[in-house]
Amino acid sequence: MGWVTAEAPRPAELSACVDCGLCLPHCPTYRLTGDETASPRGRIAAMRAVAGDLVPIDDAFEDMMSFCLQCRACEAACPSLVPFGRAMEGARAELTAQRPDPVRRTRHALLGRLVSTPVLLRLATRAIGLARRSGALRIVPSALRSSLAGMRDVPSTPPTIRGAVHLAQGEERGTAALLAGCVMDPWFGGVHEATIELLKRAGYRVVVPTTQTCCGALAAHDGDTRRARRLAVRNVRALQAVDLVISNAAGCSAHLKEYAEWAGDGGAILADRARDVTEVVAAAIADGRLPKLSMNRGAVAVQDPCHLRHAQRIVDAPRVIVAAAGYQPVDLTDDQCCGAAGLYSMLFPETSNELGENKAAQIRVTGSTVVASANPGCEMQVRAHLENWYSVAHPVELYWDAVRENETLGPGTDSRGE
Ligand code: SF4
Ligand code: SF4
Repeated sequence: MGWVTAEAPRPAELSACVDCGLCLPHCPTYRLTGDETASPRGRIAAMRAVAGDLVPIDDAFEDMMSFCLQCRACEAACPSLVPFGRAMEGARAELTAQRPDPVRRTRHALLGRLVSTPVLLRLATRAIGLARRSGALRIVPSALRSSLAGMRDVPSTPPTIRGAVHLAQGEERGTAALLAGCVMDPWFGGVHEATIELLKRAGYRVVVPTTQTCCGALAAHDGDTRRARRLAVRNVRALQAVDLVISNAAGCSAHLKEYAEWAGDGGAILADRARDVTEVVAAAIADGRLPKLSMNRGAVAVQDPCHLRHAQRIVDAPRVIVAAAGYQPVDLTDDQCCGAAGLYSMLFPETSNELGENKAAQIRVTGSTVVASANPGCEMQVRAHLENWYSVAHPVELYWDAVRENETLGPGTDSRGE
């Protein structure tokens, strides 16, 4: 039967793979299992077999594709530039189209509605808060419970940043639209505050249009392509007439940069303007619009989210930001996925847990009790696997806290004054 959707893996994507195997040591699922069918090369071979009508889309194919974390470490390591992440989104779209499954359909309907409806997300936030305080979280399924274990403490009615307009400080460089996100808005208010304050100081007028919605990354990764397209088109309409579109969640900024796939010409224009906040803040530090602080705050372990490091190839920016806050950035022993990976922690809790434990062990050996992570899912996963004396925050939060403290102490007490 081959492929049936427009999103299916493309011939050029599959033929780019020359079977060299250089990606294998970088693939977490291959490293855990040693199994070729859990490797990027094996997955591409399976996609080719389906494309050539040699095998049907069956249980074995579904298992191979579903077990992939979509971390794109293979893509960053591949000398033939195989766009593995795109091909895997295509394979997941085919699973949805060719293997109707009530569980997947229900997941798409419930999660899709939840992440794109702020009022529902706020009700869910309140329910989670009540369940945590009353101990009722014990009775929810263990996979969901562990996914929520690393959640920050959030107020029962968190404020929203939607609709806000903030004026630039100093010479204006343009207007930046901030993606409020799905869980970023109610669960990560501190990251939004830091983002807005730093963008203002870097010379941007910051707007947060109310008509925007979830970026659609979760839907795209899970094969819910119709929803992913709908959400992308809505964001293209909502986030027009600005110079930059900023996200402070690495998974979302990576997806915004791929909007040409999901929303045509308008998507391509938005993709061109999309930036992860770490890029913009690091650039402002480099050219002196934001200060470098000299107070020694000790070491910070830098956890690289896959969608920052592998999908966007952003490595230096978070280190520049924490160094400017006065920390010494410390790298982990490797950049393997932490196991959060969107819905993965709920679908494959054991593998997710094993990868989370590996990541926590790498952080412990750095000797630092402060961790910088630029993606909400990674932050929650890392916190859930570390002891409670560790503090995990976004790099821009660590930097904004330092800048604010410096401003409170008074000019000249901490700034190197570049
Ligand atoms: S995906 Fe790239 S690195 Fe992996 S086997 Fe194919 S060509 Fe080699
Ligand atoms: S995306 Fe990650 S888990 Fe999937 S094949 Fe590539 S390296 Fe392996």
